[in-house]
Amino acid sequence: MLRFHFITIFPDMIAAYAGEALIARAAKNKLIEVSAYNPRDFLKGKAKHAYRAVDDRPYGGGPGMVFMADPVVRATEQALKGAVKSKRRTKVIMLSPQGKQFDNAYATKISKRYDDVVFIAGRYEGVDARVKKIFKAEEVSGGPYVVTGGELPALMMMDAITRQIPGVLGKIESLEESRAASPEVYTRPEVYEYKGKKYRVPKVLLGGDHKKIEAWRVSKIKKGGEGT
Ligand code: SAM
Repeated sequence: MLRFHFITIFPDMIAAYAGEALIARAAKNKLIEVSAYNPRDFLKGKAKHAYRAVDDRPYGGGPGMVFMADPVVRATEQALKGAVKSKRRTKVIMLSPQGKQFDNAYATKISKRYDDVVFIAGRYEGVDARVKKIFKAEEVSGGPYVVTGGELPALMMMDAITRQIPGVLGKIESLEESRAASPEVYTRPEVYEYKGKKYRVPKVLLGGDHKKIEAWRVSKIKKGGEGT
């Protein structure tokens, strides 16, 4: 079983996604487990009772606020607790637009090498850099753009990693994976009429010649699925 742990001030976002579709099925079948830890629950002393703020101004100035190290460190420690005790293989990923670009090869590697994956999802201007040093976390990016928080890229990564776990995809979906999956797919009707114009399914797909169909799909992959 692969355990995913999310460090986030918005744990409901994680529960919402993990509670649906293939990810929920994988969890039900005990192939994965998904947990979230809110740094606000790991505040100490006075901060715990006041505004439960987990952010503060950056040293050296600049706009925006920064997640304080301590509540994030404590939440991450909690996430890793079981894994450390049972000597499971752990990986800590710090979500960052400056990080290594996530791709399918990375997803496969993570699914094979680790038992516990912790995602630290930043907000505001990011997380105090000492957290990364303490856990030897790897900075990973979900894409060449900046979003408002690490939750979405982390969920996307969890999804891609989960698909690589044997038994997660059903038989038909696995078969889809192993052959040329075209970015351009069609289903009934053969002719679709929209605002007076007829949109037809490409003839090659109707002919039943599997070699030709495969060649057409490969050509579509190369073209990146532009037009017909
Ligand atoms: N100036 C900050 C920087 O460049 O890292 C922007 C932080 S962004 C508004 C807030 C958080 O969203 C980041 O700490 C990170 O966790 C997450 N984030 C934003 N874009 C991301 C991306 N492309 N991939 C992964 N995480 C991202």
